[in-house]
Amino acid sequence: MVRESILHWGCPVILHLEAKQEGKKGIWKLIERDKQLKCTNCGEAPDHWQYVTLLESSPLKGGRGHASFVSKCKLCSRESSIDIIPDSIGKYSSDDEGFKSVVHFDCRGLEPVDFDARVGWVAEGTDTGTRFEDIDLKEKEWVDYDDKAKASVGIYEFEHQFHKEK
Ligand SMILES: [Zn+2]
Repeated sequence: MVRESILHWGCPVILHLEAKQEGKKGIWKLIERDKQLKCTNCGEAPDHWQYVTLLESSPLKGGRGHASFVSKCKLCSRESSIDIIPDSIGKYSSDDEGFKSVVHFDCRGLEPVDFDARVGWVAEGTDTGTRFEDIDLKEKEWVDYDDKAKASVGIYEFEHQFHKEK
């Protein structure tokens, strides 16, 4: 993927996350995400969720490299794209309070308007290393049991914010 072009195109968008956690241990990491995206050219926003993931990459028109997500607006036909900036992916740990930036997107011609935290979250016990895969945060909470710590773990009152970087 073409990384050096990121700063020349589009405005990076930061996703901030907040979650209250039960128990002492826990690191929460975002690996995949669903978003609702609006065309910045004509304002068209499809009423369905669109999926942006680091695991996929699509070619941009005219050999301009690749992006995590490429789409053509149904209304104005403009091609736009979103790229996940891999180095920006962070973790939300049990020591964190309030909102914390966990991922930056390079948006060209698209703007995220909403976010559905439904799949692909991973949590890890800080001391135990117990991994919890495929956590679903659609209901904004998640509970499980860490056998090694003999304690219940959970995420509650999950919230997100998008920030536009100038
Ligand atoms: Zn459009």
